[in-house]
Amino acid sequence: MTRVPYLSARLQGFGTTVFAEMSALAVATGSVNLGQGFPDYPGPPEVLDVARAAIGTAADQYPPGPGTPELRTAVAAHVQRFRGRAYDADTEVLVTAGATEALSAALLALLETGDEVVLFEPMYDCYAAGIAMAGGVARPVPLHPPAGGVGTWTFDPEALRAAITPRTRMLLLNTPHNPTGKVFTEEELELLAGHVLEHDLLVLTDEVYEHLVFDGTRHRSIADVPGLRDRTLVVGSAGKTFNVTGWKIGWICGPAPLVSAVRTAKQFLTFVNGGPFQPAVAAGLALPDAYFTGLAQDLQYRRDVLVQGLAEAGLPVISPEATYFATVDVRPVQPDGDGLAFCRALPERAGVVGVPTGVFYDPEHAHLGRHLVRFAFCKSDAVLGDAVERLRRL
Ligand SMILES: *Cc1c(COP(=O)(O)O)cnc(C)c1O
Repeated sequence: MTRVPYLSARLQGFGTTVFAEMSALAVATGSVNLGQGFPDYPGPPEVLDVARAAIGTAADQYPPGPGTPELRTAVAAHVQRFRGRAYDADTEVLVTAGATEALSAALLALLETGDEVVLFEPMYDCYAAGIAMAGGVARPVPLHPPAGGVGTWTFDPEALRAAITPRTRMLLLNTPHNPTGKVFTEEELELLAGHVLEHDLLVLTDEVYEHLVFDGTRHRSIADVPGLRDRTLVVGSAGKTFNVTGWKIGWICGPAPLVSAVRTAKQFLTFVNGGPFQPAVAAGLALPDAYFTGLAQDLQYRRDVLVQGLAEAGLPVISPEATYFATVDVRPVQPDGDGLAFCRALPERAGVVGVPTGVFYDPEHAHLGRHLVRFAFCKSDAVLGDAVERLRRL
């Protein structure tokens, strides 16, 4: 790999992302952009109106460092409602600049140089960079696509066991999982919990898609496996739940000593953020259950539209159990099986942009996802319909 000038050794290899390249291609070719995962429709008016009304008030100034008491109380009540677990709003909940800061602050606060972090790949792009910035070492365990495209992604329990060493400090989990759309099962969480307890690990679990789960599948938090609450930090975000990915309001919940450590790092990263958005997110978290089930149903319908369109275009699809993303195997229309080449050519071929799943792997394992491409379906009917129409050209 060529060395990027000025960039520290810690960050070599994290120089450019394929997202920027693909988004630029989408603009240059007038393509439908199903690359990046953000909704192109607004959030609930009950939430947006609170933010609008808060601008021009005292909410424009620095909120308290850990987040407004109102939002922390709303986060704790939301966790109590959906997970049935109590967290103390003052000592066990911290508001952050999106889930991204919660993850970075936790990694910076909890890892010593050389500490190893076990996680699954493909993985959300900020994990490897966050671990590297904290001086840690990522130990990825591959998830394998379901045979014949039907069912859920799985991992080899032996590969997991082999990834854990005496230097392992943390398990970094993401469920529901981006980019695969997998929801970790109760049995898988228990298996993971067994290793966590045996090796005395900490757990950081990214659950930003907790509500975007389809077909009656249930999201479970590993924090709720007996014995894990006191060593687990759970990360959430308003972005995906209220269609406000630009607001960057997230939170982290866990036992007071862990949250306190994360707060120490957080206060020197952003200190605080999003004053007028904090009361709006508090209002959102208190919306009735019907909002959250309606959100999942709506997205499930969008998933079905895209999955059907991709299948009709001759692309075998792995239909996701959750999240914003569907994955296709490009080999029937790209005989060399090169997902990156497929994505680079797709704007010209069909006027659609996707993201090669290979970029979500450690470079050493990228071959495992080389033939896969991720498409986002969190898009309006008009955009999805247009995308499906264009994909027929393949
Ligand atoms: C979108 C996303 C995030 C980022 O959340 P923010 O609140 O925008 O920082 C974190 N983790 C996963 C898996 C995501 O898909």
